[in-house]
Amino acid sequence: MSIKEKDKEFIANTYARFDLQITRGCGSLVYDDKGKEYIDLSSGIAVNTFGMCDPVFINAVNEQLNKCQHTSNLYYSEPCVKLAEMLCTRTGAKKVFFGNSGAEANECAIKVARLWGSQNKGEKYYNIITLKNSFHGRTITTLAATGQDVFHAYFNPLTEGFLYGEANNVDSIEKLLLENKCCAIMMELVQGEGGVMALNPDFVGGVSKLCEKYNVLLLIDEVQTGNGRTGSLYAFQQYGITPDVVTTAKGLGGGLPIGACMMFGKTEGILGAGLHGSTFGGNPVACAAGVSIIERIDEPLLKEVREKSQYVFDELSGAEGIKSVSGLGLMIGIETVADASLVISKCMERGLLPIKAKNKVRLLPPLNIPFDLLRKAVKVFKEVAKECVQ
Ligand SMILES: *Cc1c(COP(=O)(O)O)cnc(C)c1O
Repeated sequence: MSIKEKDKEFIANTYARFDLQITRGCGSLVYDDKGKEYIDLSSGIAVNTFGMCDPVFINAVNEQLNKCQHTSNLYYSEPCVKLAEMLCTRTGAKKVFFGNSGAEANECAIKVARLWGSQNKGEKYYNIITLKNSFHGRTITTLAATGQDVFHAYFNPLTEGFLYGEANNVDSIEKLLLENKCCAIMMELVQGEGGVMALNPDFVGGVSKLCEKYNVLLLIDEVQTGNGRTGSLYAFQQYGITPDVVTTAKGLGGGLPIGACMMFGKTEGILGAGLHGSTFGGNPVACAAGVSIIERIDEPLLKEVREKSQYVFDELSGAEGIKSVSGLGLMIGIETVADASLVISKCMERGLLPIKAKNKVRLLPPLNIPFDLLRKAVKVFKEVAKECVQ
């Protein structure tokens, strides 16, 4: 049996996979089992921050792997502390809780919000407002937080206490705050799975003001937008807001599983002994990877991310076969005239690997993709978008 046939037989059928097996890679280039080369425009969904086989990443991981791979949270661990200190210094957060995924980071944020609400406002203040079209994860609670009905079917009853407001409509949020007992508002600043929609800065500022006015926490889900993806270390840093909790995952480990829930001033003392935990959380190898990733997301790299982003926006906006370009930094959504799935499959034939988000083609290349590869990818993409219409 081929890998494809065995996959169908032995793996739960939760993924509609592309007909492609990636076996190795080098930087922003990846190769399939037949040796065909592709320019990686998705980095494993914004995970491989510095692409494949990156020597700095490999060294950091190997070095830690040769010391110890896991110790449990019963003992102190240097890589874990180092990464937490780095995240706090770079964001203004006061404490970090480590988990292993985006959903887990958000679960932690939701527990923090409810705990804070019950301690500061009263037990009934458990409601959390999220946005329609959002995505916060696949656990029963983060599904409940996700404001898209398609994800809710079949899994009811979901966790109670989530209300859905409209993105870019401050009044819809205020109405929910007035009519319900709430402890927090939770949102992505660029809705990733929802179609790469960057929130309007006025709306984000307005929500931040509402959080103060109604004394509720502001939770920002930076699972996808974080770790340099949008052109700042975290997206909230370019929206001019001070959140109470920020979650991240995807690109933080550069390819290894790790998630983080960062707590700022108001929430720093909330989690006490026994209130939360994770066996694998803060794994030393994942944290050593994280340290090596965050260390390299410095101002020169971020500037490069913004320049590459500008280049893609300039080239693709108004090009033939392209209706619109959205997003922030190297998190880009392209609305094509032709069906997005058709464009993606043609791209794959031509050696590009973009992915989909709703009805759009989504680009999430490694942050250090060389400019010449990006130029080549954009050129091919424009040809494909045009050809697909004809
Ligand atoms: C991917 C994603 C998640 C879920 O992360 P997992 O690691 O798959 O659990 C949550 N929120 C956002 C914004 C995401 O993009």
